[in-house]
Amino acid sequence: MISSIMPNYKRFDLAFTHGEGPWLIGTDKRRYLDFAAGIAVSSLGHNHPLLVKAIAEQAAKVMHVSNLYRTPQAEALADLLVQNSFADSVLFCNSGAEANEALVKIIRRTQYMKGHPEKNRIICFNGAFHGRTLAMISATGNPAYLEGFGPRVEGFDHVDFNDLNAVRTAITPETAGILIEPIQGESGIKAADPEFLRGLRDLCDEHGIFLAIDEVQTGMGRTGFLFAHEVSGIKPDIISVAKGIGGGFPLGAVLARAELAQYLTPGTHGTTYGGNPLACAAGLVVVGEILRPGFLEQVRKVSESFGAMLESLAKDYPEIFIDIRGRGLMRGLKCRIPSSDVITAAMDEGLLAVGAGDNVLRLVPPLIVSEADCQEAITRLRRACKTLSHTLSQHKEKTA
Ligand SMILES: *Cc1c(COP(=O)(O)O)cnc(C)c1O
Repeated sequence: MISSIMPNYKRFDLAFTHGEGPWLIGTDKRRYLDFAAGIAVSSLGHNHPLLVKAIAEQAAKVMHVSNLYRTPQAEALADLLVQNSFADSVLFCNSGAEANEALVKIIRRTQYMKGHPEKNRIICFNGAFHGRTLAMISATGNPAYLEGFGPRVEGFDHVDFNDLNAVRTAITPETAGILIEPIQGESGIKAADPEFLRGLRDLCDEHGIFLAIDEVQTGMGRTGFLFAHEVSGIKPDIISVAKGIGGGFPLGAVLARAELAQYLTPGTHGTTYGGNPLACAAGLVVVGEILRPGFLEQVRKVSESFGAMLESLAKDYPEIFIDIRGRGLMRGLKCRIPSSDVITAAMDEGLLAVGAGDNVLRLVPPLIVSEADCQEAITRLRRACKTLSHTLSQHKEKTA
């Protein structure tokens, strides 16, 4: 018999009653150190006093009015994002996929309004992940996500990640823009070379096309900078964010330069919930905290130590790990054995991690973790590895 919840997820048999900072407490009464953070979402950890207070207070005042009226919370959050980024204007929505949909619409609309309706194709990358809507599974391009869902949405071309010549060759008079993740998340924590991003910027300028960056996972402080593209020194034309920006409250956004944003005139696009007072009250706390002096420096400091801890762990268990990847608090360990085995063993030790493509174990803790929290995560991971390693050698003995 089918469950009342549709079966599109293979879930662990575990639920949580509450959380505190980087910790989650299971219905099994065990404490779990949460280095999954709801897939890079719970940026301020669980039960953050300011976030809880802002949501509770806003909920008691007004949650939702629609975009027929002004929303001061959204205006304040947009101001904050504009003041601290390349962008001139912000559109709010509710998720990453939805942000990317709007991003593509804005790029196409801009080319159209500039007299280039033929420029409507977006160059994407092999291994990308942009979400699960009909258009975004086509932008993602992964056959596993497309199978059985009918005709692909037209207008997305795919080339190899970090291959500038491939991009150059793929640009045609129909190209409207390029969409890239600064670090491919779902497909295995693969970083774009800063050089490559700078090359894309030049190509876009040369061809009159737009550089779009999907910062849904990498943005909002995840890599130790407000946005991951900042380290390459380039300015994109438009970016999408979601995941971490609401700290667990569903919120997404598109940030764009005025040249593009100006064309999103009344009637061109819309959303009922997008940017409502409750979501933006949450976003204001999260973004406010991330921008608080010293916050991102602390993320960078902790992630440097965390990186070193991961290096030494990987060195001590070469039978389990192949390499470590990523930046800031977005890290991946490529596994020699199924990464799901490592994740399960870690969970047995009370550490939550997420899988990613390419057999990678992904660690994306809340941005508020301390060095001691990271040390604790590594201690638990080491215990898991010891057990796994023991099982491996027993297995070898048996088959020898
Ligand atoms: C998670 C993710 C998305 C999709 O976000 P949803 O909120 O699940 O729709 C898009 N792009 C990237 C890079 C992501 O990591």
